[in-house]
Amino acid sequence: MSNSSQDAQTAPKTIRVVQCWDDGVNDDIRVMEILRKYGAKGSFNLNAASHGPQRQSGWKYKDVKEVYRISRPELVSVYEGFLIANHSLAHPHLESIPIADAVREIREGRDQLEQIFGYPVLGFAYPFGTHNEAVRNAVREAGHLYARTTENVADVFPPADPMAFHSNCHFHSPDFWARFEHVKQSGGVFYFWGHSYEIMNEDDWQAFEKKIAILSADPAVVWTDLPELFA
Ligand SMILES: [Zn+2]
Repeated sequence: MSNSSQDAQTAPKTIRVVQCWDDGVNDDIRVMEILRKYGAKGSFNLNAASHGPQRQSGWKYKDVKEVYRISRPELVSVYEGFLIANHSLAHPHLESIPIADAVREIREGRDQLEQIFGYPVLGFAYPFGTHNEAVRNAVREAGHLYARTTENVADVFPPADPMAFHSNCHFHSPDFWARFEHVKQSGGVFYFWGHSYEIMNEDDWQAFEKKIAILSADPAVVWTDLPELFA
């Protein structure tokens, strides 16, 4: 960043790029290898109750790809260098369970992650993206700075309500670059998210790495951790 006003007129607008990944599965490891390679930042939204003593099979994505949850003992080493955020304790539809249960899911999820990782957990992502006013209040009151939905909007920041923080798009979105270019014109924040298990094959991995490489090579891009936006 330059202090010169002349430079400020000619320099490209800064675009802060944030990303987050849900559910704490084995392919997060390969996502982080790529992010490290290009100096990119990212957050990982975990359900503390989903991580057992060993890696455990979660489900078969699209009936073909076995998805594993990272084991609890390896969480700290696996996610080193990246921020963890809360995705509730066990991934229920928070708006459709009794609010006392939702509060417990939100608070206990955060508490367990803080115990495991040893730092304040400031972010939240709604399981399935769904929420209501009582749930938003509970997430706010538990001490989170923001809560991500699964809605896509053109301009994400600042959100009208940080407890309903929408992203620009999913990482697989066909209009990913159009949405990025829109944000780039005005400067601001570009926010994408996904599940690493959605990266199905080597072609997908190469396409994902190319996206990260292109973003990192863009002089306007500043990789940013999500809580920094709300600091
Ligand atoms: Zn999820």
